[in-house]
Amino acid sequence: MLTTNKALLAKADKGKYAVGAFNVNNLEFIKAVIKAAELEQSPVIVQTTEGAVKYAGIEYLVALAKTAAKLTKIPMSLHLDHGRDLKVIKAAIDAGYTSVMIDASHVPFEENIKMTKQVVAWAHKKGVSVEAELGTIGGSEDLVSAKQIILTDVATAVKFVKATKCDALAVAIGTSHGAYKFSGASKLDLKRLDELKKALKMPLVLHGASGIPKNIVDMAKQYGAQLGDPHGVSDEDVKAAVKLGINKVNIDSDLRLAFDAGLRKELAMEPKEFDPRKILQPAADLITEVVRAKMQLLGSSGKA
Ligand SMILES: [Zn+2]
Repeated sequence: MLTTNKALLAKADKGKYAVGAFNVNNLEFIKAVIKAAELEQSPVIVQTTEGAVKYAGIEYLVALAKTAAKLTKIPMSLHLDHGRDLKVIKAAIDAGYTSVMIDASHVPFEENIKMTKQVVAWAHKKGVSVEAELGTIGGSEDLVSAKQIILTDVATAVKFVKATKCDALAVAIGTSHGAYKFSGASKLDLKRLDELKKALKMPLVLHGASGIPKNIVDMAKQYGAQLGDPHGVSDEDVKAAVKLGINKVNIDSDLRLAFDAGLRKELAMEPKEFDPRKILQPAADLITEVVRAKMQLLGSSGKA
């Protein structure tokens, strides 16, 4: 069942849990994520970056997501992650995405407000939800990168939300995109998150919060991946953030790593196999496993 982020996140806000937003690029990813949602009876956000749109084509992605939504009873939305190009955002709204993110966090404050307001005007006319971002989340992901982390200021955020009327806000509280987030343990500014939630009273979004599970990284390495020493955000930190009012958590790197590890293992273990369906299935199964664990962590299991 296709719905909006606004509907999913309002329910999550009331129920004090978070909905996982999982980045997909193709058929295997979408099917693996929906399978996890069904097994967990969890609401789910399927999201694509502008990079995924470039890779797969917007019509393909919308058709895949709409088909998935038609075939499942699980409430799901299709969300554009980190929209930066207004043309792509407009195209996503027109093509059938039920939620979009306008990430103008890299431009000056007044310009961010202006761009976000424009997207809200386009989106709300069609019943599409809008996520905006204030402050910067470090690291890099697809086409988006930031060298510096600027944490979200509470008073500025209140002013921003009032001016733009966005439905959800991605806040910078110390997380970072990608697999190489921290040299050691992560450190989230939970006090700031608490203040933001109390002042804004709206669904807040956590980016850059992949856990980078060690067993998956080790598995990929065992079969030839050269990944160095990646670190993610701990399960305890994610749990604490959800408790303080995060209602959407983005997960991309963990799914990429699962796909990579599953694929490498299969190719190494079955050197005679060249049927792509057989080669890809273990990778998809590992994605399903990782997504299920996230849903349990975020408290969305059983909330469909
Ligand atoms: Zn992000």
